[in-house]
Amino acid sequence: MEAVIITIGDELIYGHTIDTNSRFIALRLSGMGIRTRRIVSIGDTEEEILDALRDAWQRVQIIIVTGGLGITHDDITRSVISRFRADFPGTGLIESAIDNEIGSAQGILLRLEDKCLSVLPGVPFEMKTMFERGVEPLLRQIVPAFFIRHKFLRTASVRESDLYHMLDNLPRITGLGSLAFLPGPEGVSLRITVQSDSEIDARDKLHRAVELIRGKIGPHIFGEDDETLAQVVGAMLKQRGLKIAVAESCTGGLIASRLTDVPGSSDYFERGLVVYGNQSKSDLLGVPPSHIAGFGAVSPEVAVDMAVGIRNISGADVGLSTTGIAGPAGGSPGKPVGLVYIGLADRHGTEVHRQLFTRDRLTNKSRFAQGALDRVRKRLVFLDQPSARDGFDR
Ligand code: AMP
Ligand code: MG
Repeated sequence: MEAVIITIGDELIYGHTIDTNSRFIALRLSGMGIRTRRIVSIGDTEEEILDALRDAWQRVQIIIVTGGLGITHDDITRSVISRFRADFPGTGLIESAIDNEIGSAQGILLRLEDKCLSVLPGVPFEMKTMFERGVEPLLRQIVPAFFIRHKFLRTASVRESDLYHMLDNLPRITGLGSLAFLPGPEGVSLRITVQSDSEIDARDKLHRAVELIRGKIGPHIFGEDDETLAQVVGAMLKQRGLKIAVAESCTGGLIASRLTDVPGSSDYFERGLVVYGNQSKSDLLGVPPSHIAGFGAVSPEVAVDMAVGIRNISGADVGLSTTGIAGPAGGSPGKPVGLVYIGLADRHGTEVHRQLFTRDRLTNKSRFAQGALDRVRKRLVFLDQPSARDGFDR
């Protein structure tokens, strides 16, 4: 079964208010197996709203409207609904009220045969309560059992285009469901969606789709659904009884911030230093000034010096460093904006990685931080292989 969501209010059209009502409703509908065909936002304009209602009525069985139900001059939804009702003389259209136990404006419910239109207030907490108490139970009665299930697989330091190539034509060969690529400043997420009229079958399809994708890009996936990279890395450090210390230049403390966003991080996070100026890198971490002068502050050599330095002064098991160019200024052909070197030091030795991002400063900072944390994750995974450790110890 399919739905259209219509949110009403000039504040949405001006961009002053983010339309969170649609998000809530679409998630709830999806949880009931109802597919949202469209989400439409409209200002407080009668003709536009009427037009959208008529259009939606032609397309789908379920329409949910929010906003414009109050008593002030700009609340026109009620009068639009009366005009809309006039489209159906003598058809048996039934109108009833949806109770509002926590606010003043009642909602409206229109039903005709298998179609159903609900109108709810715009105030998010009133809308949610009324949706849960007055709309959801009714939808559950009229919607046949159908299950839409999603799984998010999270990656942090691999490009969307690379993932796409690694997974090319997978969506077609599986026949299990659909796959979407969702890039963001914290990495690219993959969303798998499956549908079935049986819950067990939906769960089984989801499981098989996840296994298939993990088979192709498993090492790039750090977690699922709401897991964050900092949580995952933190848990890995804790499990191995390791402590980490961080020396950050271009990330300005963001790695330390993300690690300490996780409750219990004192178990594995020893310290973080923001060593932004050249002097601080030498004074606090012992980076040789000749390295900074010779190789540049943004260089693999200095990244390694920083990681070794923070590990030495802190006594932590793992030293992690970042040095890069967040932009927008400061880039050069040899060292463009978006370039970062990530240094890692542990008892087995050191690593340095070069990554190149683009875009704006804050996006770069976020990607640098994720890239660095993901290097720690990959290092720990790598060291779990006995042969890898032997190689280092020999
Ligand atoms: P209304 O019911 O149109 O008087 O809306 C009351 C208030 O609810 C507005 O001033 C907004 O702050 C908020 N609101 C309305 N529609 C939405 C929406 N789609 N998402 C989030 N907030 C909303
Ligand atoms: Mg309004």
